[in-house]
Amino acid sequence: MLMRRILLYLSTAGWAKAIITHLGAARRVARRFVAGETLDDAVQATRALNAKNMAVSLDYLGESVKRREDTEEVVRTYRDLLVRIQREKLDASISLKLTHMGLDISEELCQTNLRHILGDAKQFGIPVTIDMENTPYTDRTLMIYRMMRDEYDFSNVGTVIQAYLRRSEADMQALGAEGAHIRLCKGAYLEAPDVAFPEKPDVDANYVRIMRQFLQSEGYLCIATHDEKMIQAAESALAELKVAKNRYEFQMLYGIRTSRQEALAGAGYPVRVYVPFGEAWYPYFMRRLAERPANVWFFAKSLFQR
Ligand SMILES: Cc1cc2nc3c(=O)[nH]c(=O)nc-3n(C[C@H](O)[C@H](O)[C@H](O)COP(=O)(O)OP(=O)(O)OC[C@H]3O[C@@H](n4cnc5c(N)ncnc54)[C@H](O)[C@@H]3O)c2cc1C
Repeated sequence: MLMRRILLYLSTAGWAKAIITHLGAARRVARRFVAGETLDDAVQATRALNAKNMAVSLDYLGESVKRREDTEEVVRTYRDLLVRIQREKLDASISLKLTHMGLDISEELCQTNLRHILGDAKQFGIPVTIDMENTPYTDRTLMIYRMMRDEYDFSNVGTVIQAYLRRSEADMQALGAEGAHIRLCKGAYLEAPDVAFPEKPDVDANYVRIMRQFLQSEGYLCIATHDEKMIQAAESALAELKVAKNRYEFQMLYGIRTSRQEALAGAGYPVRVYVPFGEAWYPYFMRRLAERPANVWFFAKSLFQR
């Protein structure tokens, strides 16, 4: 738990980023979780996963953008990505973060950027998920998600709910009644105990509870977890509640429990792999390290290897 807190603190510390991103070992280990730096790398990873009967959600890495002109490049890359998905007939959606679209600069800029991307996505019929960041952004993310979903009348715009937040059960009930497209995950950020359950058993229990409730709603559920207990609870709920295959999918991150991803797809479940690409891998990589102490050990060992 302490290790998780330290790593999550480091994921946002500029001084730590400056040191760690210059380590060759960090780059090597990060490659386990990131498809590569270019659009071509992302397309290649998507093709390989599609060939194994798995869909993909492509994430152009980046967050907390502070300069207006930097968001222009982000929008351009997402639009290029949408064209590649459409032209090359990839089975892929996109995932994006609102602070990558400029939410820290202004809400208006963020919405304008999002509209450029959603316009293309709607035209091509490519689903879009708005990732969920830490709690200073929860309300604004849900507000912008609802606004865009209604404006584009595009049922394929979705967002994310984090089971570690105390508010999530209520949010999920409202979103279920709206027929929303929701990815349910545990949550990846450092949060205070008054807003998030500090103990893993409470997070897990909340995950299962709100998953079961949502599966009985009008919504579409993306079951995003690598936790075997969550996966098995989902399999039981799906069977017991007789949930149709077009109402849900399993989701996992690129490079994590790859054989389990393939086994779920092999068993006939809809599976989507979240594939990040780009140069801004540092915070994403640190959050992945925070989730599993064994990864930190692997990273520490690789510092001493050439
Ligand atoms: C598709 C997808 C999208 C996501 N989007 C968001 C988002 O928008 N916002 C957000 O806050 N979080 C997001 N997350 C991250 C999520 O919140 C968790 O931090 C992350 O998935 C770890 O939780 P877990 O359910 O896998 O369970 P945990 O309890 O963390 O892990 C259970 C088991 O899974 C395996 N495992 C988990 N993580 C790793 C790892 N890094 N390396 C190796 N093995 C691992 C281990 O066997 C571990 O014991 C997303 C996760 C997925 C799968």
